[in-house]
Amino acid sequence: MIECKYCGARIHEDDEFCASCGRAVERAKPKKDLGENPFVFGLISFFMPLFGFILYLLNKRTEPGRAKICIKWTIFGTIFYLVVIGLLILFYLFIIIEILT
Ligand SMILES: [Zn+2]
Repeated sequence: MIECKYCGARIHEDDEFCASCGRAVERAKPKKDLGENPFVFGLISFFMPLFGFILYLLNKRTEPGRAKICIKWTIFGTIFYLVVIGLLILFYLFIIIEILT
């Protein structure tokens, strides 16, 4: 049994229309679209490590393979940002020293 998106009535999985409100039954789209594309998860995790970590926590139990990709790229992304921030700090230190001397 699933719940009608519009009125909340219980509907059979195979029913095309809600018996209560008559609307077409909208089923949740299978999540495998993204799941079958680990590249997308890797990309999200890399550029948004915090989001990648959340994805890791969300998928840890249900999709261990996907969670592994997320945490892996979260770590890569974090290292990447740390390096970039480190270089920026060095860059500004260099500029400050140039100005002061
Ligand atoms: Zn309904």
